[in-house]
Amino acid sequence: MQRRPIILLPETLRNQIAAGEVVERPASVLKELVENSLDAGAARIDVTLEGGGVTRLVVQDDGAGIPAGELELAVTRHATSKLSTAADLFRVSSYGFRGEALPSIASVAHLTLTSRFHEAEEAHRLEVEFGTLVEQGPAALATGTRVEMRRLFAATPARLKFLKSEATEAKRCQETLMRMSLARPDVAFSLTLGGREVFRLPGGQDLRARLAQFWPPAVTTDLVEISRTHTHPDGGDMTVTGLAGRPSRAQNRPDRLLFYVNGRPVQDKLIMRAVRDAYKGRLLSGEYPQAALFLSLPPEEVDVNVHPAKLEVRFREEGAIIALVRHALASVAAEDAVADPVQGYGHGYGQGPGDEGLASAHGGPYGGVSSGVSSGRQAGAWSQGEKPGLWRAAQEFRSPPAERHVPLPLSPGQSGPSDHSNGGSFAPPLPDAGHRAGPLFAASDPATLSQGGLEYLGQIAGTYLVLRQGAGGDEGRLVLVDQHAAHERVILENMRRARTGGDSQPLAVPLELALHSSEAERAQEMWQGLRDAGFQLELSAEGKGGGRLFVRGVPPSLPTGRATEFLREMLSDRSAGLETLWILLSCKSAIKAGTELARDEALALLEAWLATADRDHCPHGRPIAVSWGAQDLERIFKRK
Ligand code: ADP
Ligand code: MG
Repeated sequence: MQRRPIILLPETLRNQIAAGEVVERPASVLKELVENSLDAGAARIDVTLEGGGVTRLVVQDDGAGIPAGELELAVTRHATSKLSTAADLFRVSSYGFRGEALPSIASVAHLTLTSRFHEAEEAHRLEVEFGTLVEQGPAALATGTRVEMRRLFAATPARLKFLKSEATEAKRCQETLMRMSLARPDVAFSLTLGGREVFRLPGGQDLRARLAQFWPPAVTTDLVEISRTHTHPDGGDMTVTGLAGRPSRAQNRPDRLLFYVNGRPVQDKLIMRAVRDAYKGRLLSGEYPQAALFLSLPPEEVDVNVHPAKLEVRFREEGAIIALVRHALASVAAEDAVADPVQGYGHGYGQGPGDEGLASAHGGPYGGVSSGVSSGRQAGAWSQGEKPGLWRAAQEFRSPPAERHVPLPLSPGQSGPSDHSNGGSFAPPLPDAGHRAGPLFAASDPATLSQGGLEYLGQIAGTYLVLRQGAGGDEGRLVLVDQHAAHERVILENMRRARTGGDSQPLAVPLELALHSSEAERAQEMWQGLRDAGFQLELSAEGKGGGRLFVRGVPPSLPTGRATEFLREMLSDRSAGLETLWILLSCKSAIKAGTELARDEALALLEAWLATADRDHCPHGRPIAVSWGAQDLERIFKRK
């Protein structure tokens, strides 16, 4: 084979190779340029894109600017104003430090850099075409820096091929700018896409206000502020601050989990793991909470140098980071938990600070049996805002049982005294009606059910129906049925059957909901599904893409009082499809945990549940019934 001699690569080629790492797509260019603007102390940053950012991408700021004499250096490789010694590298506090972004971009596109240094009389500009300096001279610019990139990858068609559609690239740019803007709610940002203004964010906001520009109010108003500091023995605090969602608000996509390390958006598995740990036992698999978490660490604790685009970071003390994030989230994550002693024994609720008292029981006898005592998540809807932990359990055991009997609407078609006729009889129970000790067994005589050799004994904790299976002898089993889960299953099957019926319960007084632009968009996407489910809706547009939703009719199974709650949840979940709609609807229609059932009601529910095709699991995948046989009970009582 013929060998070619070793040579030093020409500067342009070197930059193009470096660009392969830094400049992957328009969104990576945007990220680098916005970082430069932030490093320059900008208070406002305006971004304009055309053709998904490939044709043209402009970032203009009001930062400190670049002196005319340094413009050429700015587009030279390894030239930076942010580092000068190796020691600096381990104390990086600016976004940039490699001095690679501008030369890399300039090597694969047409770059025009215009800047007016804050102490200078006039602005200067410089133009580089695919690595070659083509023009330089005075220019007009009132303040700051304007970087315009055009025709990305036009000279390297192979790389152009890797880009996705214009719409996809634009979406990524939008996502990138959104993420960065959340780290700096003090800075004003705007994004214009193909001549259309996508967003305009005022400066001087706080995190919640900034998030409210992107997430619907149903999500943002409910976020809980978190803040926790870990003081390192060698000095140098690690802090995590931000906003986090309650478990009951979980959604089935992780797209509202945003992590930042020292102001940099990161996609970090370690932080993700810590978040999962914190919410463990509160979420189903496939469910994710919302959170925007900001870690701030001494620069020497974190290496942002791992990845050129700096999406990944490396922590010096991973364990400390995990513990810090977990503890910071513990109280939010625990908020919906039902902390009564029985559940406490059965489940590993050892995450929250208030739960230490139960810790000794975790390895206890019940541990081996519980295949799934209800996780208490559905109870969360009414327990929000109460204090977590043992304190609440104690309170609950003191409060008197409430005198409430709620008739059960078993199917959408089945009308009776139950439904809406008595003015929303099925309204959610009063908060204090939930979860109390109550009489252990409400029903006096056992009642035999028509299938499964089951006998109903009574209700416990206002939530579980107690049954005996296979009455006497060795074969008997103790069965607990979660009433909410069972009812959800019944309603879902009924609705599935009647799905196209489109029955609707007209409302005398229409409900009215003001919609955020993201909710209005969802409403339009889900329109047909909502109508099929029995909603009669009207949407009137309002400024900025928002709207007003009038609800003139609701599905017959859905208590009027819960229609708003259902719609808010449905419309705030961007990922929900039609199936989710039916599941959520059955959840909202179903009797809640903590509702006392009369014997007849419990029997009716159990019969309806036994008639369903999939009676083991509720639509969310939670178990509906758990049971213990003689051997399980022997283990619990340590007889064996
Ligand atoms: P780095 O950010 O790693 O230093 P860049 O190639 O991104 O490298 O930028 C090179 C230099 O150009 C920066 O160090 C900075 O001094 C200057 N610069 C770039 N963009 C701006 C801007 N928007 N405002 C002021 N100075 C800038
Ligand atoms: Mg930079």
